[in-house]
Amino acid sequence: MGYQSTTPLVALLAGRGRVPYHLNQLRPGRVLDYLTALLRQPPQTIASLTVHRFAPSLALLPKGRPSANICDAGAIQRCFTSSCPLCPACLAKDQVPYERLLWSFRPVPVCVDHKCILIRRCPACRRPLRSDRQDVSHCRCGHKLGDTQPVVVSPHGLSLAVKSHQILLGVALPSPEMSTAACFWWSARLAAAIRRTPAWLVEAGERLAMDPQHHADAVSWLAAAEILTDRPGRLTAFLDAFQRIDKHKTTSTGVGRRFGTLLRQAARLEKLGHPPPATALREYLVEHYASGHLSGKVCLFRHPKDHSALRKRAWIPQTRASKMLGLRHGAVARLVESGILEGRFHPAGRHGRLVGLVHRQSVQTLQSELRQGLDVRAIAKRLGIDHHRVLDLVHGGLLPRAVRTAKGWRIPRASVADLEGMCKGLPVGNPASGRWLPLREATRKFGPAGLTLALLVELIRAKRVSARMADPEKCFHGLVVSEADLAALAPEIRNRRDQERGYPIHHLGSALFVGRPIKDTVVAKWIAAGLLRARKSGRARLVAPKEVDRFRQEYCLAEDACRILAITRSTLSRWEAEGLVQPVYGKRVTPGAGFSLYRRADLAILSRRRRRAA
Ligand SMILES: [Zn+2]
Ligand SMILES: [Zn+2]
Repeated sequence: MGYQSTTPLVALLAGRGRVPYHLNQLRPGRVLDYLTALLRQPPQTIASLTVHRFAPSLALLPKGRPSANICDAGAIQRCFTSSCPLCPACLAKDQVPYERLLWSFRPVPVCVDHKCILIRRCPACRRPLRSDRQDVSHCRCGHKLGDTQPVVVSPHGLSLAVKSHQILLGVALPSPEMSTAACFWWSARLAAAIRRTPAWLVEAGERLAMDPQHHADAVSWLAAAEILTDRPGRLTAFLDAFQRIDKHKTTSTGVGRRFGTLLRQAARLEKLGHPPPATALREYLVEHYASGHLSGKVCLFRHPKDHSALRKRAWIPQTRASKMLGLRHGAVARLVESGILEGRFHPAGRHGRLVGLVHRQSVQTLQSELRQGLDVRAIAKRLGIDHHRVLDLVHGGLLPRAVRTAKGWRIPRASVADLEGMCKGLPVGNPASGRWLPLREATRKFGPAGLTLALLVELIRAKRVSARMADPEKCFHGLVVSEADLAALAPEIRNRRDQERGYPIHHLGSALFVGRPIKDTVVAKWIAAGLLRARKSGRARLVAPKEVDRFRQEYCLAEDACRILAITRSTLSRWEAEGLVQPVYGKRVTPGAGFSLYRRADLAILSRRRRRAA
């Protein structure tokens, strides 16, 4: 008839009824009837030459229904690609080249005979291969496709492809509780989810030794087969990655947003009598999901039997945790912060609210510790100290995992035993020589410098202060410490206290400039002049360590000024007299001043001006 291409022919046929684009889309109806009459073959024979021969393995039906003999449109779309991949090695060996039906089967993107990846584009012109090319073995550009060097697939990729191939042909069986059709249906959902998880595509591509940029579809299907084969570890890892990516369809906040439609799809399969995916997802959510609340509203937990599984969930809401532990609301967050409980906090909703989940096991461990734990009074008695000193130890972090409940502090026995152990480890007996102080006297004497019981215990543990047990029966009450050690450490203790609380004015003078003590009255003048900011605490005025740092960065003494300007002291005082340099505090600006204080910024400007002039 002179037609150069099949397109005009198909266009003519289209006028006579609905003509499928591809033979694989052929369904019972007028076109099949025409073909039956034309070819004088029963319709089953014609259908069996198309994808419909795999209908029993691919058409998803409720469990127990007799298998289908025609693939529904969904199954064809899911499992067969509209592009036309081919195996160059197969074509090369064909005497009469022909396309294989299985080349377009997406779960097996590999030729299992030649162990190579199917090609989708012409290697010469890089254009996608078309189903309507007139010569199977040649591209439109004239390239002979059989000449292409096949790309060998990795053993791991091949074994996954062979498994899917065998399942399709009925040689191997998928999970015992799932039909072959359900297995491919779920694979398709997983593959779609994998294609939306770039991190997983890259990871799986590395395992399969395939480039996910060129073979995204192939990698996604093989990676889906991998998840189905290595359950449940691989599924858990994938869901961890999948829940982190942004979903296009934001159904709602929480679990729906994190898992897209995967949960609903698993629930649908379960309803049709194929429960394994739903069971696996449920297990994952109960054991590993820590990003939000789970309730009976989530489709997989609507059934009362499944809902009850939520009670055993590994991650529990913080309100439940605080109830279990007898804490005030909000205390759980602090325990998570300090590492006593294992928990995760996620922003939820538009108002920046935080949803917190706590690991059940960590709550139960703490719960039993607190149940057997002791209160402050009992500990004071055991350690032989006043109860306010017990609180000192708690706040100093020396009674770890102590928790303030609604009924007061509860302290785990192990934490107390730890301190008792420290006392037992000390040398026993009255010291022969040297000045030794009982505990109470030591804190009285060095308390003003900032010595607390907590700090003393820390120093004893670090072996920086020698200690002995004069009376082992009395625990802390029988402890004596070396006065000489404490006296030597006093400046360090004071400095540490000042660092934490801020410097009182009478300490600041000696700490402000190293090696150059300054009188308290001068410091007071600087505060009055607004050069230094202090805050009131009771009767004392304290200067915060940050403020001290700022002051040191902003001002300096004459030695530093000479260094910055690279001049001698006599030049500096001459410049001062000439008005070139103006100190913020000094003989010429402040009556009664014995030395000068300079603003570093002023000196920097002057130094720059001098360099430019030079
Ligand atoms: Zn082949
Ligand atoms: Zn080409």
